[in-house]
Amino acid sequence: MPDKVLVIPCSGMGKVYGLIGRESALKTVKDCPNEAKAMCLAYIVTGDEEIKDKIQGKRCITLDGCPAMCAAKSVELAGGIIEEKRRIVDTFRKHKGAKPGTATELTEEGWLIADEIAGEISDRVRELYKEG
Ligand code: SF4
Repeated sequence: MPDKVLVIPCSGMGKVYGLIGRESALKTVKDCPNEAKAMCLAYIVTGDEEIKDKIQGKRCITLDGCPAMCAAKSVELAGGIIEEKRRIVDTFRKHKGAKPGTATELTEEGWLIADEIAGEISDRVRELYKEG
């Protein structure tokens, strides 16, 4: 059986885009329990040998709240293979004027956008898993 695809959101505290990234990642893992696994960015950046073993050479999808791309950079440094780098802020080009909520709470519109991202990421996870 292929390894599960690792889904890694940035910590994104203090920004609504970070919250949307985390919620999207959680929904992806919930929707694809057999194909996806969430991983904690804070653990990855510790550089701990145990986490390096779990991520090196593994297929990963990162979700970053902003162009700083903390999750993508950290996963690359840890040796993960990034199959897709999602910038949550880019999704908002399709949702101009949207009011997604705050860093601590999403509005209904924010949840819909998180669901949309999760749907796209889930499709990608299933595709990657099928490829083996
Ligand atoms: S990518 Fe942006 S929102 Fe996410 S942790 Fe880094 S600085 Fe914060």
